[in-house]
Amino acid sequence: MSAVKLVRDVTAKAYAAWLIKSGKVNAVLNRLNSGSCILSIYFHNPSLKVFEGCIKWILKNNLRAISTSELYGIYSNKKNLPRNTVVITVDDGWKFNEQNVIQTAIRYRIPVTIFLATDPMIRGNSFWWTIARSANKKMFPSLSVEELKGIPNHLRLHYLRKVSYVLSERQAMTSEAVRYFNSSPYINFQSHTVSHPILPMCTDQEVLNELVQSRLILERQLDKPIQLFAYPNGSYGIREINMLKRAGYKMAFTTHTNYIDHQSLVRPYEIPRFEVLDDSSMEESICRMTGVWFNTN
Ligand SMILES: [Zn+2]
Repeated sequence: MSAVKLVRDVTAKAYAAWLIKSGKVNAVLNRLNSGSCILSIYFHNPSLKVFEGCIKWILKNNLRAISTSELYGIYSNKKNLPRNTVVITVDDGWKFNEQNVIQTAIRYRIPVTIFLATDPMIRGNSFWWTIARSANKKMFPSLSVEELKGIPNHLRLHYLRKVSYVLSERQAMTSEAVRYFNSSPYINFQSHTVSHPILPMCTDQEVLNELVQSRLILERQLDKPIQLFAYPNGSYGIREINMLKRAGYKMAFTTHTNYIDHQSLVRPYEIPRFEVLDDSSMEESICRMTGVWFNTN
């Protein structure tokens, strides 16, 4: 571990411990118990320690994990928000999700929705930002991940084609694994596009292809409707929402940090979520899960 990361983690842990001690986490638990909101948390590639730690904390505090289908039912039937509930989602479909997330969710009988980018799953190519990071270390001149997020999609793809030889290992779950775990009642696979582009940097046709193709591929592989979506990088605008509707999606998850309440359920294509990091202290994970880590109201 680098010294910078070590200092960051120690500082974050102390800050999180202070937040917990100050009663902010308990205040959120009281709010959940009043039925005024639902917790919405998401992961990417969490360690077993982080994911299982979060599940144990959720159960210890008598919270019930509801599936994204149940959330959609609450929205579409205009039901009251259930008390003491949490929605758990996971983005990208990393191969270590199999042992760290899926096996744990099944063991604890916790529903989890995993949003998959279909290209890394089918073709086995690395996620593009990890290719860019490797190229950054090995080549000069090279573009950073942040720079690549800000350029038109065709230029990003052109750059990645040039540098993709630097990293070609599989990072995503295989189609076989996804099909296998799809039979579990606790695991719901949904769409996170084909290639995980930054949608606002794509042309209209590119956006539509990403939304429609990923849905069709997953529907063919999993033999079930694909109607839920998570925006890659949390990036979207009005155009993306309209295209999601055209492409047959019913609900989409953002990276806006907030609780799900009646106000957020008015906008089903902008469901908020709190991010839990892949590897951080339990204290920090608790503060992230409950939203007290972020500036929310
Ligand atoms: Zn993603």
